[in-house]
Amino acid sequence: MEQDDTKLQFDPHGNLRHLLSLRGLDAKLLTELLDDAERYLTTPGALPARNQSLAGRTIGNLFFEPSTRTRASFDLAGRRLGADVLNLDVNTSSRKKGESILDTIYTLEAMHVDVMVVRDAGDGVPAYIARNVKDHVSVLNAGESDVSHPTQGLLDLLTIRQHNPDFKNLVVAIVGDIQHSRVARSASEALQTMGVGELRLVSPPALAPDPERFPGARIVDNIVDGLRDADVVMALRIQRERIGNLDGVPGIDEYFAKYGIHHENIKHAKADVIIMHPGPMNRGIEIEGTLADGPRSVITKQVTNGVAVRMAVLNRIGKMMGAR
Ligand code: ASP
Repeated sequence: MEQDDTKLQFDPHGNLRHLLSLRGLDAKLLTELLDDAERYLTTPGALPARNQSLAGRTIGNLFFEPSTRTRASFDLAGRRLGADVLNLDVNTSSRKKGESILDTIYTLEAMHVDVMVVRDAGDGVPAYIARNVKDHVSVLNAGESDVSHPTQGLLDLLTIRQHNPDFKNLVVAIVGDIQHSRVARSASEALQTMGVGELRLVSPPALAPDPERFPGARIVDNIVDGLRDADVVMALRIQRERIGNLDGVPGIDEYFAKYGIHHENIKHAKADVIIMHPGPMNRGIEIEGTLADGPRSVITKQVTNGVAVRMAVLNRIGKMMGAR
């Protein structure tokens, strides 16, 4: 997304209209969204929070790349706010027959879809759609190539805040395929806005990021240096679908030994470290299964928080629509 597109996210009154990136969202807005999300969390086993703030609105889920958690949580979030939710089946949609993305969007607009939730492998697709929809439509980015995944960034920020809200004194280590990770990009944008103490990006040299994409972060290739005294460790999947050439990427055993999060290296982090993973997880590659299931893991909490932050974003968009 171009820098100027960050402005595209707001309506003329400064209200959030599209969520395309966490760039351009200040600490106040991020905090408000997390506070709103907290209000949707109920204790396990209790009925989930719901209201009718989006009653009469229609949300279209357009996922042109695979998804489990993001798609399911946008679906549940919309329904729990009383909206109609349309899950477009991409495998049988006309885009497969060569229809352009805008023709698909215009078709959904004609059916009175108010919110388009879009995941696509192409850079800039959510912003392109946002520039072309009618004034009454909002676009939410649900994962854009290796560029951005803003609701994932929000749920990660919420999960970290629940562990320790003192961002300025936190050391966060993101470990794995940073170069191709939209999750790392959005988490990094959100954490820098909140003034994180130190952000370390740990990866094999072949998967190291372009430093310009991660201003303020420290790029590290030794896992022990990366994990030392960390408060938060986030493991990432290798994005094989985005890597043309695997030359230089360690094989599975070497990768797990050197860059996987396991019982041996996690000892270098703080004793109360939290372990995160956005899913889908490859046990025995980027994370040891017993750590993923262990007491330091907040991976299922991230999933729960994912529904809550998507409700918070949808609710905010719904209010903006109501105020028009
Ligand atoms: N689910 C996350 C994403 O869509 C992470 C991943 O796929 O590895 O980016």
